[in-house]
Amino acid sequence: MDGRLKKSAPSINMAVFMDGNYMNMEKTTVSKFAELFGGEAALYKAPGRVNLIGEHTDYNGGFVLPGAIDKAIYLAIRPNGKSVCNVYSLKNDEMESFSPSEETLPRRQWARYLYGVCREMLKRGGRVEGFDAVVAGDVPLGAGLSSSAALCSATAFALNDIFENGFSLFDLALIGQATEHNYIGVKCGIMDQFASLFGRRGNIMRLNCKTLEHRYFPFDPESAGYSLVLLDTRVKHELANSAYNHRRASCENAAAAIRRRHPEVEYLSDADMMWLEEVRSGIPEEDFRRAEYVIGEMQRVLTFCDALEAGDYKLAGEMMYRTHDGLSRLYEVSCAELDYLVEAARNAGVTGSRMMGGGFGGCTVNLVDASLREEFVREASKGFEERFGHAPKVYDVVISDGAGKVPTPQIN
Ligand code: ADP
Ligand code: MG
Repeated sequence: MDGRLKKSAPSINMAVFMDGNYMNMEKTTVSKFAELFGGEAALYKAPGRVNLIGEHTDYNGGFVLPGAIDKAIYLAIRPNGKSVCNVYSLKNDEMESFSPSEETLPRRQWARYLYGVCREMLKRGGRVEGFDAVVAGDVPLGAGLSSSAALCSATAFALNDIFENGFSLFDLALIGQATEHNYIGVKCGIMDQFASLFGRRGNIMRLNCKTLEHRYFPFDPESAGYSLVLLDTRVKHELANSAYNHRRASCENAAAAIRRRHPEVEYLSDADMMWLEEVRSGIPEEDFRRAEYVIGEMQRVLTFCDALEAGDYKLAGEMMYRTHDGLSRLYEVSCAELDYLVEAARNAGVTGSRMMGGGFGGCTVNLVDASLREEFVREASKGFEERFGHAPKVYDVVISDGAGKVPTPQIN
């Protein structure tokens, strides 16, 4: 998270963020544009994402299973015929100006995402000229729903459209990823950008992180009587970075040992349990456990997808619990807060629950029978607060379409 962010937006904006109403967000964005720059703007949006299953598999060349959600970044934008871009962030109540053709980075982090996307587009031969824009959104920041990817995707999609660049959605995902790498210093994979751009209502995507091929699977919990709810622990334990590097090293070590016997194994996700067993005595016990989790996770993703195709949400949910168990016991990236919430879900009869994201904090994602949702959230929140001294945040999410142009709402 960006610690330099100003704390809160003006009160009128807070009301919009809290009710999460699309129409209000859209209207607020374009009316702010009219107030600041005058006249009308084109409006674009790109959503945040959840990842149902397939955790710590991306850097192991495996599958992830994300879906876009009904919380998004909105961008009202209009070319201004100059070489400078003037961008206002509603959340921060700040205006920044930058020139895409110049090397000077904008001072504020949020503006660097926009600047980075401009630069990466220019680098790839695109046309980007001056524009005026307003950024707004209701994707919670730093909660693991990828507000940053949503911001990159909204910007990339909008610039591609208004300057008629003709980049594919895939190019736009690469542009967003390169922005995080080169202008923010976050060496992320491509999943978040991908989900934000390729999302489809009622579906999740199975993305193969090695080949970057993707396939949709039907996932529409509401129509089957379920809800998808996230509980945000609001903690981020310090371990995250060093632990991440350690986990990667363990996985690479295990993959290298297997590769010596089976040269076709490029990534750990290419191996199976039998091959891992063969090298058990030759690698540290810790590396074995990490690899056991990753290889197991590949299998769980496949089972999860089969379950979705069969409409079997119970089996899908059970896979989520097993993933959590693996992340907690074998991969050891959970924490007391996450384990508590997953245990609370089990006890409440929730269909599936697991920690989501890198670990050591962030959210749990819960697939819950709609009739249980309220009691589960109330009891889990109460118990959590008693134990950890603060309540988790609650986000209800619906799987939604990816980035797109939004018809400009009427303001009066
Ligand atoms: P996340 O997990 O949500 O992607 P990051 O730390 O990667 O967390 O990205 C959060 C950053 O993205 C913020 O610090 C800010 O710079 C930018 N950002 C996200 N949402 C908005 C918004 N609504 N308006 C302006 N900037 C935003
Ligand atoms: Mg991010």
